[in-house]
Amino acid sequence: MTATFKLSRRRLLIGAGATLAAPALSGCSVFRRLGWGKSDPFSLGVAAGDPSPNGFVIWTRLAPDPLHRDPAAPGGMTGPSVPVAYEIAADEGFQHIVQQGTASAEADYAYSVHVEVVGLESNRPYWYRFHQGDALSRVGRAMTAPAIGARLDRLTFGFASCANYENGYFSAYRHMAEESPDLVIFLGDYIYEYAEKKYPTVRTHSDGVEANTLPLYRNRYAQYRLDPDLQLLHARAPALMTWDDHEVQNDYADQWSQTFDDPQEFLKRRAAAYRAYYEHMPVRPSLSRPDGPNMRLYSSYAFGDLAQISMLDGRQYRSREACYAKPDKGHGHLETRKSCPELLDAQRSMIGLQQEQWLFADFAASKSRWNIIGQDVFMAQQMERMPDGEAGFWTDDWNGYPASRKRLLQHMHDTRLSNPVVLTGDIHSFFANDLKLDFDKAKSPVVATEFVGTSISARPGPYDVFAKALKDNPHIKFFDNRQRGYVSVEVTPKAAHARYQAISDEKDPKATVLTLKAFAVENGKPGVQA
Ligand code: FE
Ligand code: CA
Repeated sequence: MTATFKLSRRRLLIGAGATLAAPALSGCSVFRRLGWGKSDPFSLGVAAGDPSPNGFVIWTRLAPDPLHRDPAAPGGMTGPSVPVAYEIAADEGFQHIVQQGTASAEADYAYSVHVEVVGLESNRPYWYRFHQGDALSRVGRAMTAPAIGARLDRLTFGFASCANYENGYFSAYRHMAEESPDLVIFLGDYIYEYAEKKYPTVRTHSDGVEANTLPLYRNRYAQYRLDPDLQLLHARAPALMTWDDHEVQNDYADQWSQTFDDPQEFLKRRAAAYRAYYEHMPVRPSLSRPDGPNMRLYSSYAFGDLAQISMLDGRQYRSREACYAKPDKGHGHLETRKSCPELLDAQRSMIGLQQEQWLFADFAASKSRWNIIGQDVFMAQQMERMPDGEAGFWTDDWNGYPASRKRLLQHMHDTRLSNPVVLTGDIHSFFANDLKLDFDKAKSPVVATEFVGTSISARPGPYDVFAKALKDNPHIKFFDNRQRGYVSVEVTPKAAHARYQAISDEKDPKATVLTLKAFAVENGKPGVQA
């Protein structure tokens, strides 16, 4: 039971500094009052995402006690949904408020707020904030995209993947925020579901256990969002989102888990994980509100005549890992084409046949010079020698789905898609790759370019293993995995420039940053250039 919440619109919009008296409470949650006292309902900060020519999404979540352990009171909140006021301003100081309204912090979604703001001018920055009672959120910056097909001379974005809270601090996020890019693109492993048991950690995951239920996933996201560097990044730049595996479970594929759970049981876990993801991300309710274990995340964003960014979902619809078998082949592993003929099965898909068709239609509709694809896992062929010298391929990335990769690259080639550039996370390494129509033929044309960003903080794999494989993969033009960091990209009509940004030490909360390497792709000339 709770006190009913009756606020006039005008009172809700009272700004910072105004104090409202707390009404009498009758044994209900201490947080359902107008005066929030010492607790901050906006402890998880704010975020914006999905810029369109007339708006964007803004997000917050009421969480006065963000890591509250009672599953019945997520973030310390109980009772019905709560109205939250928002303001959109043309300036950072909120002198010119252009839009205001009230949204609902939805009880069913952990008191998260998702507002699809419309009616704004195209191609400009805006600032936003939220109010609830006497509490005021921090200010976030968002942007609208240019009108479809309108001229745009420059777009900047950073891309990030693989932020393991236990493995290190998020200095990479802070340095990306300080660049104030137009956009930040998250390519997955935004959280890690497991709790580290083997290696020393610099900090400890929420609840101390593997997240596999809705309350545990919620607290994991809340813990990450309490991090000041990640919170700063979301406040500084609107986000485009996709996920990889660790938002649910390591190396899962659709309904198949690495632990060989009954698929119906695993789908219940996936439903909990997707729901918590939705609750914490600035994604569109009209597109992405989850329906049980299903949640549409893939989507495309146009930035005038300059760039279209297609964000793929590489987990929800993929075919099962090739040669998935007990006891130890439930997750990524090496297979040869002889040991595992299933690898070459033409029916297998990384993103599902429906998403492939959507992507091809999206390319056809593109009015942009650069066609950028944000997605989770390594796309270039990466052949690794087995102990007997046979060519081995990793089953969890596109090397486990070569027919699907071939359909994509062949389509780009046949349609002469303008300047395709692929952005990749997952592998905790920097790579720069030429994507060839046929990786096994030296003379086969380069169709697209792949930039792979290292992890924000997650531990890398063995350097020597990747380094040793380089000689068998001449289309891989650069590799290093000894640094944590991110990639900054600047797109102009002439070229796309990528700076590989490395932080000094993920175990230092004040780590510095430097540019490890810079690459470019020239308009009309696919492939990596130094
Ligand atoms: Fe990762
Ligand atoms: Ca991953």
